[in-house]
Amino acid sequence: MLELDGSRGEGGGQILRISLAMSAITNTPFQLRRIRAGRRRPGLMRQHLTAVRAVAGACGAELEGDALGSTELTFRPGPLRGGEHTLAVGTAGSAGLVLQALLPALLCAPGPSTVVVSGGTHNPASPPAQFLEHALLPLLQRMGQGVLFSLEAWGFYPAGGGRYRVQLEPGRWRPLSLNTRGPVDQIELFAALSNLPDRIGHRELLTARRVLGLAPDEGELLRVSSPGPGNVVLARLRTPQLTEVFTGFGERGVAAEQVARKMARQAVAWRDGTAPVGPHLADQLLVPLTLGGGSYVTGPPTAHTTTAIEVIGAFVDHAPVIEAQPDGNFRIHCSP
Ligand code: ATP
Repeated sequence: MLELDGSRGEGGGQILRISLAMSAITNTPFQLRRIRAGRRRPGLMRQHLTAVRAVAGACGAELEGDALGSTELTFRPGPLRGGEHTLAVGTAGSAGLVLQALLPALLCAPGPSTVVVSGGTHNPASPPAQFLEHALLPLLQRMGQGVLFSLEAWGFYPAGGGRYRVQLEPGRWRPLSLNTRGPVDQIELFAALSNLPDRIGHRELLTARRVLGLAPDEGELLRVSSPGPGNVVLARLRTPQLTEVFTGFGERGVAAEQVARKMARQAVAWRDGTAPVGPHLADQLLVPLTLGGGSYVTGPPTAHTTTAIEVIGAFVDHAPVIEAQPDGNFRIHCSP
């Protein structure tokens, strides 16, 4: 039984999600202690517990410690199988983070799957729907996997009420190669609002346009229907090699201009740099890279990236390796 320490490195929920995926994929039981010890409220939150039960359902795992607030979990996987998975995170726990654990596992199952997961689709500090749809999942398709994604309902933190449907057709994994990047040939900007006044979105668009150097008629205001109030401003930057998505979440007490400026500055830093893979994509591509092999170039590795590599290395002896490049970028590569 592999013994893992959830307080290492980044010390958050990602250690759990990567352990679940890698355990199901390699059929290796594990025990995780000190779950999310680095967080203000440690232990399994709703979103983490849903991920545990989801991956357990995909591989018939035996569980101990699968309760809200639990700081210890034992997970004994069985063989992976495809099928129908309907999951409810409850309130606005992040549905995207549940997919982060479940998708790589189901893409290693012998048959297709359909996953319907309800919860938050636009939560701070987690991948929003448009990042999954336009940045991450097309790269999994390029790696040989059949992935069809749809955002069926929007759910903002804290009310939730969103829903994703994902159809998966596992294929033979192919290597990923994202070592250089051409110029950005299209920028799409939008501000989405649910149960909030339009002026918030107009102010965000005005600021983001200025920072991104877009024309006054660019950028779209989307009024979306969702149970609670919510706001997100998002820029999608397309290059011939990949699309990156940058997101700002509206927050009570934070000016719309500040939310948009922060998002747009991250987008400009990426546009004006040379590394194809942004910081969030960099940590979320590590499990696929371990499965398919290949390499990608990114900026300085985040704590999420270094911690994820450490966790993957506990399950396989060919975990991705980070190499500094002379131009200040970093190349992450893996040979399965
Ligand atoms: P905790 O509450 O323990 O911090 P968590 O389970 O909510 O944990 P993390 O472990 O911090 O989450 O992991 C967050 C994940 O969400 C990471 O993979 C990170 O790259 C991703 N992420 C965060 N913000 C964004 C964003 N704006 N776009 C895309 N991905 C994001």
